[in-house]
Amino acid sequence: THFGYETVTESEKRERVAGVFTSVAESYDRMNDLMSFGWHRIWKDHFVASLNPGFTPLTPDPDPRAPQHILDIAGGTGDIAFRMLHTAHTLNSNPSVRVTISDINPAMLTVGKQRSTALPASQQAALTFLEANAEDLTRTKPLSSTSPTTSSIPDASVDLYTVAFGIRNFSNIPAALREAHRVLKPGGVFACLEFSKADKWTPLFTAAYREWSFRAIPLIGQLVAGDRESYQYLVESIERFPSQREFRDMIVDAGFAVGGQGWEDLTGGVAAVHKGMKP
Ligand code: SAM
Repeated sequence: THFGYETVTESEKRERVAGVFTSVAESYDRMNDLMSFGWHRIWKDHFVASLNPGFTPLTPDPDPRAPQHILDIAGGTGDIAFRMLHTAHTLNSNPSVRVTISDINPAMLTVGKQRSTALPASQQAALTFLEANAEDLTRTKPLSSTSPTTSSIPDASVDLYTVAFGIRNFSNIPAALREAHRVLKPGGVFACLEFSKADKWTPLFTAAYREWSFRAIPLIGQLVAGDRESYQYLVESIERFPSQREFRDMIVDAGFAVGGQGWEDLTGGVAAVHKGMKP
């Protein structure tokens, strides 16, 4: 039981989350635009630009062209992974950056794989799809592999770990943070984009935001995706997620060093970016 999930056990939560994302996979990208008025694109662009993959080595390495490995956890249909590749390969002309897009849900990854066919061939070649539970990265398997054999993401093998709008769905957030710390190289960065507490706004905006979240989003989910319950769950999971400060403390507890206050509010705290470095 973590942070208000007292009534839901970890395995119940895991099952519910699996059901939600299998159900929404096909409509996920369209719904994101509708629910956030397209804001999620601006947040994702900002998140990726702030990390600027491929500009300098992500972790200290004497060879600036040494392969760099980004692990995009809960990568879903690929929004973060595709932006990372575009920034590194196209904007920064650095093809040494590789991205593993990893998710617990094969239905989301399958949509991502389908979308990735629109990318330039060199970017497709730098992309790997991996089924994995963020809480245990010692047991992963390639997307749609039927073999029961699983492999582990090795210790200290990742230069940059990203997770966008995923971590609030995890049953055991401290376990996921420990795994992030394990797989990152020393000097590697943990970066998280997530809905947060919109506490920088006037009461009027806050009231409007709550109305939108609790009334409009489930209704849009019902009308557009034919699935009210899944979107109701998504809104409730935002409400239950820890505050900026509490989440920062969890990142520090997992062994990361944070700079300044440890997070950046986006759109008055509707979303926030947290970063930590593995010393
Ligand atoms: N990062 C993508 C984006 O920003 O568009 C997808 C975000 S989507 C809201 C959340 C994703 O988290 C889903 O694809 C879901 O399957 C995944 N997820 C939920 N629990 C997970 C877990 N324990 N481990 C890995 N992925 C998980």
